[in-house]
Amino acid sequence: MPASHLVHLECSSCAEQYDPARVHTYCSTCRAPLLPRYDLERVKATVTRDAFRQRKKGMWRWHELLPVHAAGNMIFLGEGDTPLLHAQRLGAALGLSQLYVKDESTNPTGSFKARGLAAAVSKAKELGVTKVIIPTAGNAGGAMAAYAARGGLEAQIYMPQDTPHANIEESRITGANVTLVDGLISDAGRLANQQAEAEGWFDVSTFKEPYRVEGKKIMGYELAEAFDWELPEVIIYPTGGGTGLVGMWKAFDELSALGWLASEKRPRMVVVQAAGCAPVVQAFAAGARHCDFWEGAQTIASGLRVPKSFADRLIMDALYASNGTAVAVSDEAIRQAQRKLATHEGIFPAPEGAATLAGLEQLIEQGWVQPDERVVLFNTGTGLKYI
Ligand SMILES: *Cc1c(COP(=O)(O)O)cnc(C)c1O
Ligand SMILES: [Zn+2]
Repeated sequence: MPASHLVHLECSSCAEQYDPARVHTYCSTCRAPLLPRYDLERVKATVTRDAFRQRKKGMWRWHELLPVHAAGNMIFLGEGDTPLLHAQRLGAALGLSQLYVKDESTNPTGSFKARGLAAAVSKAKELGVTKVIIPTAGNAGGAMAAYAARGGLEAQIYMPQDTPHANIEESRITGANVTLVDGLISDAGRLANQQAEAEGWFDVSTFKEPYRVEGKKIMGYELAEAFDWELPEVIIYPTGGGTGLVGMWKAFDELSALGWLASEKRPRMVVVQAAGCAPVVQAFAAGARHCDFWEGAQTIASGLRVPKSFADRLIMDALYASNGTAVAVSDEAIRQAQRKLATHEGIFPAPEGAATLAGLEQLIEQGWVQPDERVVLFNTGTGLKYI
């Protein structure tokens, strides 16, 4: 019995298929992300949705729906199975009876980047890659460094010089080579790409390889399971590269194909971005399918300082298909929301996680969220890393 039911990679734009036994980046003809496809009929025939509850905790208990074949290649640091907390005190203050926080801050390296990098570095290792490189706004670098160290791979990281100090230190202490860049993540990306091409490093930038999205999609499976296979009405997600948003939407498609959902009703997906870097919000307001590059990106939520996602079309598709929306919040609103989440629920969120609460407050004001709807905020990281 294979651990993974991965069958091929598929271009998200032209549907061209690629062989997953080889190392791939993105579609060579249209430069669009590749998405892993699984033999879902076979998964359905060999395992039931309730079987997953019995397995050992962590992301890899969903291994049929993840890309790694050999158990020995699944690099595990405890990622996944983060708590879904019913935020009753905060909900009462906002007039919502069913407000939840999916608290991703308990992941290894303190953010949900652990999920994506666990999947990507594990699969890279399985394919024989020995050197991984990444441009990062912060948390992805720390996560890659940790999984590379545990998997025995070499790590090279490019990050803006004003990245939170914890991200720089956690990367260095795990043995990664860190280069600080005078610029944004887009500038870091250019430099990483040059070194990758010159020296044969494998680039694990968001969506420029096919597997980070798979690690993050498991958040969608965990939510489905936690809500007894009836997905919540609203998911509010702090969006930078959009990996988690696209990943969860993919998970819901797979769950539907597997026949595991009790109801076909999908959540309305909400993108929250910082007012100082809101390319998705701008594109949504214009009804566009793509985003424009955001000039002069600036915000305290470093994970949201992404001027243009490589998967912008997939983000927009999920927003429109889900009847979702996109809102921008100020850094001041983020700071207030950080305090509010901490004082009401004992959760000290990363600014990115706090942004979801600031976004929710706007949506309540607009009447976009109803008092009895199940609303999930994603706290994507711990506030401790930003001190
Ligand atoms: C990277 C990051 C985000 C954005 O995640 P995407 O899935 O790439 O949009 C949000 N919050 C934190 C803490 C992050 O590190
Ligand atoms: Zn293509």
